[in-house]
Amino acid sequence: MASVILPSAPSESRPGRFGIYGGRYVPETLMAALLELEREYDLAKADAVFQKELADLLRDFAGRPTPLYFAKRLSEELGGAKIYLKREDLLHTGAHKINNALGQGLLAKRMGKKRIIAETGAGQHGVATATVCALLGLECVIYMGDVDMERQGLNVLRMRLLGAEVRGVSAGSKTLKDAISEAMRDWVTNVRTTHYLLGSALGAHPYPTMVRDFHRCISREMKEQILEKEGRLPDAVIACVGGGSNAIGAFYEFLQDRDVRLIGVEAGGTGTELGQHAARFQGGVPGVLQGTLSYILQDEDGQIAQTHSVSAGLDYASIGPEHASLHDSGRAEYVSQDDAATMDAVVKLARTEGILPALESAHAVAECIRIAGTFKPHDILIVNLSGRGDKDMGIIARELKL
Ligand SMILES: *Cc1c(COP(=O)(O)O)cnc(C)c1O
Repeated sequence: MASVILPSAPSESRPGRFGIYGGRYVPETLMAALLELEREYDLAKADAVFQKELADLLRDFAGRPTPLYFAKRLSEELGGAKIYLKREDLLHTGAHKINNALGQGLLAKRMGKKRIIAETGAGQHGVATATVCALLGLECVIYMGDVDMERQGLNVLRMRLLGAEVRGVSAGSKTLKDAISEAMRDWVTNVRTTHYLLGSALGAHPYPTMVRDFHRCISREMKEQILEKEGRLPDAVIACVGGGSNAIGAFYEFLQDRDVRLIGVEAGGTGTELGQHAARFQGGVPGVLQGTLSYILQDEDGQIAQTHSVSAGLDYASIGPEHASLHDSGRAEYVSQDDAATMDAVVKLARTEGILPALESAHAVAECIRIAGTFKPHDILIVNLSGRGDKDMGIIARELKL
């Protein structure tokens, strides 16, 4: 669990490195599995049959392409840029996570692995994984902290109905990072039969690259759709950043388009003190956690800090390594929005557009609300609406006293 602060790291960028970040900091017993996964993934990427099977499932099972929706009333009310929403919330299981779960599920099948394990915090990645395992006929074990199982009871029931076994984790803080550690232990023991279906652009190489590739369709579609609707690229793309998968998927195809601002929104929680938020770029320092070198919220002894956010999906002490590199190079900007602004954004979007956003996605909406007025009426902002809010209704009802 301990993190290491590295004063310097290799300067040249190798596969799996994003500047100095990324890499493969794992026990020896996992190296063979990661090398096998990397090799198989490279083969699958070049395999037209695999790519067609994935494209067919993304279309017919998950519901891609998702619409790019012009939020007319929200744009008028904020009185600045034209605001478009990329509707990942309309995907099967309610969020972008199904893109990656389908990709890795097909890859596991291709590798002849009949057992899938995964970790989940809020339960969204667990539900996406259990869904794909049911679809593909794979055995499924989901690790989830005891505290999260309690908080996210409905998702536990969903996973069970889909045929998954949900294993509670009672170690540490009984939340996401403990579930990840437990899943890694399982993988070490069962690596020959088992694929670890990691849920964000995190972990050891090849995961951050592979997960990003499975979400690239988001920005590929955005680009086509905005060119068709407006005849030009957007001025900014805004996405929330937990581990960083929906954001890197929304940013990736725009990285070379220097005039498109890329804005990642972290969880500002309830305050700026360590422990009150999950804004890794405000107080985090480089270190290693769960296989990768990135920014981490940690104390002076290198112990992982507690984090807080009203949205479970953004509540993690580290961030995907590609974001660390985009942050340092300045190509992407990272800001934070706190719990209160996030709740305001939920209400605003619900009442101007009739859309209930996930609390994670509402962080991106909150940043859009903050900056829209600084743009001109012909400017274009795209918000990646990573998921829908149904899963959060209990928390929203409590916070807003509905
Ligand atoms: C899990 C989740 C996130 C956070 O994960 P990323 O890997 O940062 O995208 C964001 N939005 C929704 C709706 C989620 O379910």
